[in-house]
Amino acid sequence: MNIQNYINGQFENPINNEWLDNYCPSNGDVYGQIPNSSKEDVENAYIAAQSAFPVWSQTTIEERSRILIKISELLEANLQRFAEAESKDNGKPINLAKSIDIPRAASNFRFFGNAITQFASESHESIGQQAINYTLRQPIGVVGCISPWNLPLYLFTWKIAPAIAAGNCVVAKPSEVTPMTAYLLGDICNKAGLPKGVLNIVHGLGTTTGQAIIEHPEIKAISFTGGTATGAHIAKVAAPMFKKLSLELGGKNPNIIFADCDYDDMLETTVRSSFSNQGQICLCGSRIFVETSIYDKFKIDFIAKVKQLKVGHPSEETTNIGALVSKAHLEKVLNYIEIAKIENGIVLCGGNKIIIKGFENGYYLEPTVIEVATDECIINQEEVFGPVVTIMPFNSEDEVLQMANKVKYGLSATLWTNDLKCTMRMSNQIQAGIVWVNTWMLRDLRTPFGGVKASGVGREGGFEALRFFTEAKNVCIKY
Ligand code: NDP
Repeated sequence: MNIQNYINGQFENPINNEWLDNYCPSNGDVYGQIPNSSKEDVENAYIAAQSAFPVWSQTTIEERSRILIKISELLEANLQRFAEAESKDNGKPINLAKSIDIPRAASNFRFFGNAITQFASESHESIGQQAINYTLRQPIGVVGCISPWNLPLYLFTWKIAPAIAAGNCVVAKPSEVTPMTAYLLGDICNKAGLPKGVLNIVHGLGTTTGQAIIEHPEIKAISFTGGTATGAHIAKVAAPMFKKLSLELGGKNPNIIFADCDYDDMLETTVRSSFSNQGQICLCGSRIFVETSIYDKFKIDFIAKVKQLKVGHPSEETTNIGALVSKAHLEKVLNYIEIAKIENGIVLCGGNKIIIKGFENGYYLEPTVIEVATDECIINQEEVFGPVVTIMPFNSEDEVLQMANKVKYGLSATLWTNDLKCTMRMSNQIQAGIVWVNTWMLRDLRTPFGGVKASGVGREGGFEALRFFTEAKNVCIKY
């Protein structure tokens, strides 16, 4: 199936008529083509967005809210179709797409459709100076949203929904590896009555289409989720133009397990936090640290559970782990496993490519657990972004805290303990934007989301996202 750009409410071929192959990760086949859009397509998208801005930015909050909620309802009504498209395009199990990706994309629109009705700004009375200040929160204008391939529609809409709720118009680019659900979204937006030009979706390579968005002098803000190297590049390009930036980047998150935790709950959640979505979630706990007194028991129980995970075709309801997103990514992950072995890591389970009968060219990999002797090895320091975790023991709170913080990333962390004081000490000192205690990936969309260090700058989620997508202007009136 071929897809097209969505510009000014219409579906269009790229101006240069160049196309890229779209691969199906479960069997390695090319199953469609996507536009290899150029600067000219991005310019057209920008012109459409700029033309829509005067009216959209003055559209009442009630009307914007109504349209966002309508988009949410239409996504819910098309759950099966969107889930199938996401699963085919990305390789993730259909069950995951049906229970997480698409419902969350719908929630993003519903949440920000509601949040905008509650978004308020401050006023300050300057007592003794006969003056009153009030702060306006005005939309920025045309903004760029660029998203990755791991949670395609989920992360795409996480940016678009607050951007348009706040009155901006958008030029957006999904990952060229997983463009399908973003393409399908265009039709839903038209059906929901989103005025033409408010959202424009341009498909293509990061280095050309994405680059044209970040270089565009009139696209005043960029919300980006993706790799740290790309984030650094975007920051460099955007800095001389003083663009507003929100960068949600990579992670190498610690999962810290103390002996006093609720063991069964921890074990079950740790399997999920290690291997959900083939380990391709920026929040996965890929570095597992276990208190020495329960380390041997954990090792046996964890490996037994991991071995039960079924790697299979994404369309099968019983599949726990589907295909990795691309051949290149599979090779990158396999290469990290080789590096770990060279560094004396012990592969406790997994480590190999899997050939599935009938889908021999699919990108399947066994869930892999590697025991490491030091937290400083490459597999423990670099983001692998696949179904690979490391485990190692620790003896004290201080020791594990040091190891947890001794990486360049700082996105999220998970703690397993029933000791309140330990929880408080650790949560305060862990270098991360998000700390989960006795749970993982429990998301309340009102909360700030983002990372520190090489995991990014800025926060999205709740009113933080609406603040990002607006400029504060203070008005001071003397009376
Ligand atoms: P990339 O950084 O390769 O790509 C992300 C997006 O940026 C894609 O749409 C890509 O396009 C585009 N892009 C690439 N180069 C440029 C450029 N020069 N200018 C503008 N856009 C560009 O990341 P991946 O898609 O490989 O995603 C995986 C990464 O995302 C991991 O590091 C992961 O940790 C991170 N991530 C972070 C999250 C967070 O919230 N912190 C959440 C999820 C993932 P194309 O794909 O077409 O090349």
